[in-house]
Amino acid sequence: MIDCRAASKSYASQPVLRGIDLVVEPGICALLGANGAGKSTLLRLLSGLEEPDDGSVFIDGLGFRDHPVEIRRNLGVLPEGLGLFESLTIIENLMAIGPIYGLTKSETAARATNLLGLFELTQGRHTVARNCSFGMRKKTALAMALLHRPKVLLLDEPFEGIDPSSSAVIEMLLGQLSSDGATILLTSHILSIVQKIATRVVILRHGRIESDFNPPTINEEVEEVYFNIV
Ligand code: ATP
Repeated sequence: MIDCRAASKSYASQPVLRGIDLVVEPGICALLGANGAGKSTLLRLLSGLEEPDDGSVFIDGLGFRDHPVEIRRNLGVLPEGLGLFESLTIIENLMAIGPIYGLTKSETAARATNLLGLFELTQGRHTVARNCSFGMRKKTALAMALLHRPKVLLLDEPFEGIDPSSSAVIEMLLGQLSSDGATILLTSHILSIVQKIATRVVILRHGRIESDFNPPTINEEVEEVYFNIV
C-alpha cells in the first residue's frame, strides 16, 4: 500500500505539489494530468528519489529514512529518466539490479531471461544501453522494475514509446500482478489503455488532486474531466 500524507514540493519557491493526501491500495491506479501537473514529481517522492518539503510517504507502512532496504525489496520503479546503467548491456543491467533486490545470480538470470523473452529483447540483450532505441531502453527499465515481482510498483509513463505487441504484454503483466495483490500507481497520457486496465483514476491539477474515480466505472466522466484539463 502507498500512503502519502500532506506531501508538498516546490522548486525554486514555485509550488509543484500542494499537500497531496493519497492512499493507494492493491489494484492499478492511474495518475493523470496535463503536462506539468506534477505527476512525475509525485512519483519521485513516492519512490524515495526525492524527499517532500513537507508531509510524509509510507510504503507498506515503512518510511524511506528508516527502512530504505526493506522498501527497495518490495518496490519496483520506472522513473521518468529510466535509471539505466548506460555503459552496461541490457542483460548486464538486469544482472546488476538483481542483488540490490536480494535475488541470487541464478534467480536473476532466470527471471531476466523470461522478461527479455516477453519484451522481445532477447536478440538485443548484448546491446549497450546507451546504444539502444528509446523503446528498448524503456522495456529494459520496465524489466528492471518487474524483476523482483514487487508488491508495489510506481511506473512513470510505462506505455509511452512502446510498440503495440510489447504494450499488450505489459498490460497483461500488470493485470496479473494486480490480481496477485500488487499495488500499482502509473502515469499515462494514453487514455485508451488507462480505461482498459485502471481500477482507479486520480487526476492531478496544479499540484492538487482534482478528481478521484474509484472505481472508474463512468469512463465518459473520466474522459470529460481529463480532456477538460489538458
Ligand atoms: P508531464 O506530463 O509533462 O511529464 P508532469 O505532470 O509529470 O508533466 P512534472 O514533471 O512533475 O509534471 O513537473 C511539474 C512542474 O515542476 C513543472 O513545471 C516542472 O517544470 C517543475 N519541475 C519538475 N522537476 C523540477 C526540477 N528538478 N527543478 C525545477 N523544476 C522542476
